Amino acid sequence: MNDLGEPAQRVELGDRYSRQVLFRGIGPEGQKKLAEARVAIVGCGATGSALAALLARAGVGTLRIVDRDYVEPSNLQRQFLFDEADAAESLPKAIAAARKLLAFNSAIVVDAKVDDLVPANIEALLEGMMLILDGTDNFETRYLLNDYAVARCLPWIYSAAVGSYGVTLNVLPGLTACLACLFPELPGGMVETCETSGILNSAVNLVASIAATEALKLLIGGPGSPHLRRTLLSFDVWKNEHAEVSASRPRPDCRACANRDFSHLAGRARPHITLCGRNSVQIHERQRPIDFAEMDRRLQPHGVVRHNDFVLKFWHEPYEMTLFPDGRAIIKGTTDTAVARTLYARYVGS
Ligand SMILES: [Zn+2]
Repeated sequence: MNDLGEPAQRVELGDRYSRQVLFRGIGPEGQKKLAEARVAIVGCGATGSALAALLARAGVGTLRIVDRDYVEPSNLQRQFLFDEADAAESLPKAIAAARKLLAFNSAIVVDAKVDDLVPANIEALLEGMMLILDGTDNFETRYLLNDYAVARCLPWIYSAAVGSYGVTLNVLPGLTACLACLFPELPGGMVETCETSGILNSAVNLVASIAATEALKLLIGGPGSPHLRRTLLSFDVWKNEHAEVSASRPRPDCRACANRDFSHLAGRARPHITLCGRNSVQIHERQRPIDFAEMDRRLQPHGVVRHNDFVLKFWHEPYEMTLFPDGRAIIKGTTDTAVARTLYARYVGS
């Protein structure tokens, strides 16, 4: 009886999932399907953490976690997979997440990918997956996921939260509306973000709970599963409001579904440098493998340097540079891409 505190290695699989198998919608057959399922979670911040934790505990057999970022103290309020030690070490979120998930379920496979999902690597990063879950924080990546999913006829679930507001949509290519059916254009003007409007951890966890439940229905019953929601669902946990918009059919003039125009997947090449919120700039270098020990020595005279196997951090007032082994960098303390480029060129290479 695992309730009595027997060591983890003696937990029987039947016991682990017994309360879930008892639920009529799942049963032993459903549990077997979950064990064989392969799900990608793209972005492992607040929503991604909650999705990953729920699906790992539910026994989804293979989880692939794709994330480009590292853990910071301001994440801990809502990113439930991370702790203070992860933030102190600036661990990449994908690595920290995999460690945490495997600590509570060693019976599944967790595949951590520390990478920025872009048109050039999406095929490699999502290969072999049966379902894609959205833990991203930007529309650019969501349109890319949507193009990939519609082109490959692969289901994906859109989830987003900001402030006290959450929204989610199941995209079942060929059956329901896709993201481009409902939102043909990137939202223009000022878009609310967690950096500008803050976020309630309860709004995130609610949206993740709903999306994770839809994921279970899909993995067990397939896209024809009768209880799968076919609406865009939104709610505000502070104002107690909710709304649903029908998404039951692809729009006949949709760029992706109807015209098969996958412009985001075709990837008009991404800019080499982008803003990435929080007063920081990302340099999308990936062809510059970095020897952290050597770089640490080289940077010592210019500021404070620290590294582990996964990231190197360099503080050079008023900037903070985080370098990844492939040469990618996030520079905090500026939104000026020219400043970031200069700093990178000076200390890493041009
Ligand atoms: Zn569409």
